[in-house]
Amino acid sequence: MALIVQKYGGTSVGNVERIRNVAQRVAKYKAQGHQVVVVLSAMSGETNRLIALAREMQSTPDPRELDVMISTGEQVTIALLAMALKDLGLKAKSYTGWQVPILTDNAYTKARIEDISDEKMRADLDDGYVLVVAGFQGVDGDGNITTLGRGGSDTTGVALAAALKADECQIYTDVDGVYTTDPRIVPEARKLKTITFEEMLEMASLGSKVLQIRSVEFAGKYKVKLRVLSSFEEEGDGTLITFEEDDNMEQAIISGIAFNRDEAKITVQGVPDKPGIAYQILGAVADANIEVDMIIQNISKDGKTDFSFTVNRNDFARTIDLLKDKVVPALGAQDLLGDTKICKVSIVGIGMRSHVGIASKMFRVLSEEGINIQMISTSEIKTSVVIDEKYMELAVRALHKAFDLDQPKG
Ligand code: ADP
Ligand code: ASP
Ligand code: MG
Repeated sequence: MALIVQKYGGTSVGNVERIRNVAQRVAKYKAQGHQVVVVLSAMSGETNRLIALAREMQSTPDPRELDVMISTGEQVTIALLAMALKDLGLKAKSYTGWQVPILTDNAYTKARIEDISDEKMRADLDDGYVLVVAGFQGVDGDGNITTLGRGGSDTTGVALAAALKADECQIYTDVDGVYTTDPRIVPEARKLKTITFEEMLEMASLGSKVLQIRSVEFAGKYKVKLRVLSSFEEEGDGTLITFEEDDNMEQAIISGIAFNRDEAKITVQGVPDKPGIAYQILGAVADANIEVDMIIQNISKDGKTDFSFTVNRNDFARTIDLLKDKVVPALGAQDLLGDTKICKVSIVGIGMRSHVGIASKMFRVLSEEGINIQMISTSEIKTSVVIDEKYMELAVRALHKAFDLDQPKG
C-alpha cells in the first residue's frame, strides 16, 4: 500500500464530465489498495474570470479581498469531486486550505506555505477516506485566507506530499509529461522520460509553466518523488523529476528550451558613471518590493552610461512611475525608456557544465535568423537572451532544431 498525492489542473477538472473521469482514476488507485489525497485546481478559466471581476470593482483589487475571492474556484471543484467519489461508493471528504490547515505567511496573492498539519488528514486516511484538498490556498496566522500565486496548486500538491511523506506526487495535466519545450509552440518537442531536479527548477523559473517553480523547490527540499502525467490518457509513465544524474544514460547537452513573455525592459539613459548608481536605481526598485531579473550596464562614454534591467510586466508601470518620480531627477539621468514587447528565451541543460561553446552556438543560431539579442545572462546550466517578442516562436523553433532536441536521445 502506498500513499499517493494526485494533483489535477484546471483543464483536467474543466467540467463535470472531466471531474467524473478524475473520480474514476482515483477509484482505480483506491481499488489497488493505495491511500489517495487529491489536490485540485479551479476549473480552467475560473481564476482568470474571478480576477477580471475583481478588477471591474477596483482597478487594483484589495489583496486580502482578492484572495477571499480567487480562492473560491478551488472550493467548487473539491466539492464536486467529493460528490463524484461518493457516487462511486467511496468514502471521500473535501478540505479547504484552512480546514487542513495549510498555514502560510500573510503575503496575499503570493503567500508561502509555512506549515501543514497532518493530524486530521492522517486520521481520515486511516479511516479509509479519499481526501480532496483545495489547491492554491492557505490561511495565515490570523485566520486570513491567502493564495499561493498563479499555478499554486502544484505547490499545494507537492507540499502535501512532503507533509504526509507520500510515496509519490503525481501532477496530472493536459500534456503527458515535461517536453523539451512547450509542445504548443513546437510540435516536434519531445517528451522527456526524466529530467533532473536542477533542470526542472531552471525550466520552471525561466517560464515553463508546466510546474510552478515553488512546487519544484519543495520537491527538492523534501525529496518528494514527483511525476508529471496526462489526465486524459489511461497509460503512460509521464516524466519523472530525478535527483541524480543518470550516469548510464547519454546525457544531452541541452535538455530543454524555456521562454517567458512576462517581462518588460527598462533603460535609464545617460546616468553619470560613478559608484553607487546601480544601488540608487535598483535599491529604489527593491524597496518597492519589485523583483528585478536581468541587468546590464553599458561602458560609459563621456562619463555617462546606460543602465537596463527587466521586471515583471505587471510591475512595469509602477517601476516607471517610481523611477520618474524619485530616481531620474535625483540622478540627473537623460531619459527613461521602456519596452514591454520583449521575451526571454533560455536553453537549459546540466550538460552545459562540461561543454564549451554552447552559448556561442545559441548566439549563432539567432544571428542566422536575423534576431537581435538585447540582453544575455548565463549560469552553469542555462543561457538566457532577451529578444523582441515578435521573434519568440522563430527563436524557440530554430534553437530546438539546432540543438537536435527533436531527435530521440541516446
Ligand atoms: P494545469 O492547468 O494542469 O496546471 P498548466 O497550463 O499550468 O496546466 O501547465 C501545462 C501547460 O504547460 C501545457 O499545456 C503546456 O502548454 C505548458 N508547457 C510549457 N512548457 C512546457 C514543457 N516544457 N513541457 C510540457 N508542457 C509545457
Ligand atoms: N487556479 C489557480 C490558477 O489558475 C491555481 C492553479 O490552477 O494552480 O492559477
Ligand atoms: Mg498549472
